[in-house]
Amino acid sequence: MNQGIVVSKFGGSSMADATAMRRSAAIAHKQNSSIIVVSATYGTTNILVELSKMVTTATWENCKSTIQKIIDNHLSIASELEVPSQCTNDLDEMFKELTTLVRGMNLLKEATPKACDSLFSLGERMSSRLFSECLNQLRDDTEIECFDVRKVLRTNSQYGKAAPNFEEIKKLADQHLLDVKYAGRVFVTQGFIGKDANGATTTLGRGGSDYSAAILAYALGAEKLEIWTDVAGIATTDPRICPDTKPINVISFQEAAELATFGAKVLHPTTLLPAMWGDIPVFVGSSFEPEKEGTWIRKNPEERPLIRAMAVRKDQTLLTLKNPNMLHAHGFLFNVFKVFNNHEVSVDSITTSEISVSLTVDDSTLLNKNLIRDLEELGEVHVEEDLSLVSLIGNNINHTPGLASDIFNALGDINVRMICFGASKHNFCFLVNETMVPEAIGRLHKRFIG
Ligand code: ASP
Ligand code: MG
Repeated sequence: MNQGIVVSKFGGSSMADATAMRRSAAIAHKQNSSIIVVSATYGTTNILVELSKMVTTATWENCKSTIQKIIDNHLSIASELEVPSQCTNDLDEMFKELTTLVRGMNLLKEATPKACDSLFSLGERMSSRLFSECLNQLRDDTEIECFDVRKVLRTNSQYGKAAPNFEEIKKLADQHLLDVKYAGRVFVTQGFIGKDANGATTTLGRGGSDYSAAILAYALGAEKLEIWTDVAGIATTDPRICPDTKPINVISFQEAAELATFGAKVLHPTTLLPAMWGDIPVFVGSSFEPEKEGTWIRKNPEERPLIRAMAVRKDQTLLTLKNPNMLHAHGFLFNVFKVFNNHEVSVDSITTSEISVSLTVDDSTLLNKNLIRDLEELGEVHVEEDLSLVSLIGNNINHTPGLASDIFNALGDINVRMICFGASKHNFCFLVNETMVPEAIGRLHKRFIG
């Protein structure tokens, strides 16, 4: 019965202006999308974030002129699309909400995470309202509803990075989105935002609209999930680093998840989980060049190459902790990780020897003074910055004889600071100095992808 539901997500650049919206609407129409999830118009979330930072220090006059930028952008799209007055009224209501909210935050000189989420939600709420009109103009055959996703996207109350409650979302989707299944109704809705059990607005974290679309696709048992962005799918590596990249036509869920986690910017890393659970194929394509092939992410692609792609994660910090007394003692790693746990800092990669451990974190600011002080009680601490994590992603990586030597032969004289190998079938990664990344990727791409 649920067969045939297509969930399509359009990112900020696909919502940038009236032209981009019309192009995206044409795609949604052609693809027969039933649920269309949109991001805020290009740059709007950044301005909202900027506002949330300035409220504590700036004058009301300054805040107002930043608010005006957002209003003007949306009004200019509205006027170009020639939307009906009902739509302009709805937008006006949201502009009022925006102004009142910022005024309140500015008076209090306080930007709580809860207030920020309400503020940030306006970007997606405004763009979806505009886009629903744009689609409506194209499709007089179907009823298009601009749907408030907060009615179904239940999350916990961790503002700024709320976690979805899948069980509740499934129930709520069955209550509110049944017409998708049975009446062929089309819903335009917001990515990125949700609501907690107390009714407060939450957000899933920056870039979270992909995740929203995947959550809805899962909740509705969709047939496919489409992510329309500004690049024609996933490439073998970042074209800004290596000009020889090639498009990837098909890739497995696991490989794509590794790619997203290890630095490819095309997809939000958590997106693929719900799609994997629901075995929902995911398409990534460009709304600017919809005729290009794009990338399909599937459970079982026919081809399983040893190395499919390469990713780079920048700004890595390597922390090494050494304690010679740990020779043959137990509990060293336990105590190290207890410190990270107490400070709620996530560790990404790790290698150990008997008396030392090296690990990476994503952001050097996470290594605050207190964390370092606690670690220093366990041994000598050494921190290195300006490193990048280079990953080779593919299949059967940890069971292929000779691969490590091929990788190091290709790297030649490039100094490798740390290696992670063996834990994953799909990933081989190592740290190099940031400045060596283009050379390392260039050599490896030539050797393994061609
Ligand atoms: N608008 C939000 C952001 O810019 C969410 C998204 O675009 O995915 O982070
Ligand atoms: Mg985005």
